[in-house]
Amino acid sequence: MSRAGALALKQPPEPDRPALRAAAPRPVVSARGLCLTYEAADAPVRALADVDLDVAPGEFVSFIGPSGCGKTTLLRCVADLEQPTGGELTVNGVSAEAARLRRDYGFVFQAPALYPWRTIERNVALPLELFGVPRAERRERVARYLDLVQLSGFAKKFPWQLSGGMQSRASIARALCFDPKLLLMDEPFGALDEIVRDHLNAQLLALWRATAKTVLFVTHSIPEAVYLSTRVVVMSPRPGRIVDIVDCAGLGPERPLEIRESPEFLRLGQRVREGLRAGHAYDA
Ligand code: ADP
Ligand code: MG
Repeated sequence: MSRAGALALKQPPEPDRPALRAAAPRPVVSARGLCLTYEAADAPVRALADVDLDVAPGEFVSFIGPSGCGKTTLLRCVADLEQPTGGELTVNGVSAEAARLRRDYGFVFQAPALYPWRTIERNVALPLELFGVPRAERRERVARYLDLVQLSGFAKKFPWQLSGGMQSRASIARALCFDPKLLLMDEPFGALDEIVRDHLNAQLLALWRATAKTVLFVTHSIPEAVYLSTRVVVMSPRPGRIVDIVDCAGLGPERPLEIRESPEFLRLGQRVREGLRAGHAYDA
């Protein structure tokens, strides 16, 4: 008998072979008992309380909750822009600081935060310049991502020559252009009219499917959250706690905009709405 054959005979039946059991992939974001209290002049502000969450590679996780419940704070903790006051947080298995230093994520802020003295293309190119990407590749990438957010014709304009919605799209192109595996998006489409928002939602979904990025996405819109997400995290009023996590993966990866009228979509939206209500009751 060949050596390979002997080895094969020695192997136990499949279920008992640990190597064949699917190992859970390391979470991209892992929070345990995460708390953050801001030290304000008058009284401390408890922004986050006991947030436990694991986000697996390739997930699209939306955060929804009332204004001021700590959604931005949570994203800023992941980005190492705020220091949690309690609990544990890892990003790609390391501290948020180490992940930031490795440029593991792109951040799309609530306000577009573009430099007024730079043209749109030079704003989008900024991270690439900082990371030392050669000029020709910079040009190619900027053109590609400006095209994706439908701003090709505006490359030479300055931010103040664009509408608020166009500025938001430019900031999305800037976060995407260095191809980070983790994308943190804080109400990126909040300022856009509904038609543009629909279009960008569909584009973002296609991009997410094509690139296998992990996305953490803050929104106020229940349909936007359900449409985009594999999971929707519903948060309570401040201090932000997780009230419910709604699994939307059953909608499948292909989601034409019309899916929003399907019974399953409406059921998921209803569950998110109930979570938001329950969160309010919790705080009363
Ligand atoms: P959301 O994004 O859900 O609207 P935030 O995370 O921005 O909420 O804020 C959560 C709470 O923390 C709010 O009450 C806000 O006023 C407060 N807050 C945010 N940043 C600071 C800060 N730097 N100092 C004190 N309080 C803050
Ligand atoms: Mg916010």
